[in-house]
Amino acid sequence: MSPNNKRKVALISVHGDPAIDIGKEEAGGQNVYVRKVGEALAGLGWQVDMFTRRSNETQADIVKHNSNCRTIRLNAGPKVFIKRQQIFQYLPEFVTAFLEFQEQHETIYPLIHTNYWLSAWVGMELKKQQSSKLVHTYHSLGAVKYKSIKKIPEISQTRLEIEKQCLETADLVVATSPQEQEHMRSLVSEQGNITVIPCGTDIESFGSVSRHDSRTRLNIEPAAKVILYVGRFDPRKGIETLVRAVGCKEVKLHPDLKLIIVGGSTPGRKDGKERSRIEALVQELGLEAITTFAGRIEHTDLAYYYAAADVCVVPSHYEPFGLVAIEAMACSTPVVASEVGGLKFTVINELTGLLVPPQDERAFAQAINRVLSYPAWSRQLEKDARKRVESMFSWDGVAQQLEQQYLTIFNQQPSELLVSGNASLHGAYYTLSDSPSKI
Ligand code: UDP
Repeated sequence: MSPNNKRKVALISVHGDPAIDIGKEEAGGQNVYVRKVGEALAGLGWQVDMFTRRSNETQADIVKHNSNCRTIRLNAGPKVFIKRQQIFQYLPEFVTAFLEFQEQHETIYPLIHTNYWLSAWVGMELKKQQSSKLVHTYHSLGAVKYKSIKKIPEISQTRLEIEKQCLETADLVVATSPQEQEHMRSLVSEQGNITVIPCGTDIESFGSVSRHDSRTRLNIEPAAKVILYVGRFDPRKGIETLVRAVGCKEVKLHPDLKLIIVGGSTPGRKDGKERSRIEALVQELGLEAITTFAGRIEHTDLAYYYAAADVCVVPSHYEPFGLVAIEAMACSTPVVASEVGGLKFTVINELTGLLVPPQDERAFAQAINRVLSYPAWSRQLEKDARKRVESMFSWDGVAQQLEQQYLTIFNQQPSELLVSGNASLHGAYYTLSDSPSKI
């Protein structure tokens, strides 16, 4: 395919910058999803532009991921990190900046794939102004989220309305698990087109290192029993439940026990409050000697942590999909997870790990203890975990399913999807490998 003969898609992720460091503040699964989907679609021959909001003065305008895929940062609101609940007011600016970008580059994106409700609003506005088709992935549903939190944010009504309107009017909505699809139907609207396409994981790098080599690299004793958490510091992630479970005697009494908590930025940053709370709890329960706060780890280096662990715990109160679970499974590490949302789809109870009621530290303690106490059974869980990920959750497989759906929207007339106008890569850009510090 020549450069001007590519199918073109704009992935919009207003608050989840696909080129930013993952694992701190609000950067998590959505950032990974957008970036990996973008890169995998580019691998299939698409020209992929991923639009996000600039959140820092020093960030590059354009970050090139590979020859067909780039992140484009638009100015909308102050160039600082803004919590997602406060971004809505800047969305009209984002729409204007997007339209200006199209004009400057003499192009109109025939297909727009938005992520999270903030971007859904942007997509719906753009659809009013041009003939683009709209695909949307929610990543989290307000209707579900507000059930599990005590303090409902002011923006909630707006969010719920936008999520409903998007489901009813988008050309297609992608649910990442059958559970999410069911929630959309029962809690959001009975109208609209939904298809289920899961999130993926990098099955080559996750699963490429042995437990022995990982432990050598991370300086962990071969005999240690390692319990791992990976993710953001956010009360919804349930780290407290995990720490309390480790403090229960059936877990705490295992010799050579180690709890490794990966994720979060440095103290003093926005997510520091939850980290301080968890550190205080670790002290209160006398677990300092066995607990390591590893901080944020590069996504590619996480493979060593997963592989070194005997069990990876995902104690979220709610999880629309939960990438960490499939990343651990790809590394042949059994998962103990809350029986909620997408985790009920990815983790098969008693086959690839164990599912337990959320926020139930006793149940988590018992499940962790079972995995640590029966190595032969645990080896079987590891094998089945890897097998499930290989067959269901590769990014290439996800991109192929998305491509199929994109083409279906255009009634099998993919020519409508070809690049229009001048699509060359203008502007000063940095490549990811050239300049990570600038990202
Ligand atoms: N992550 C990372 N480094 C860290 C902590 C997390 O790369 O130090 C990644 C993790 O591998 C996963 C993502 O952040 O891909 C978290 O996604 P998940 O869906 O589990 O949770 P979310 O953050 O979306 O709530």
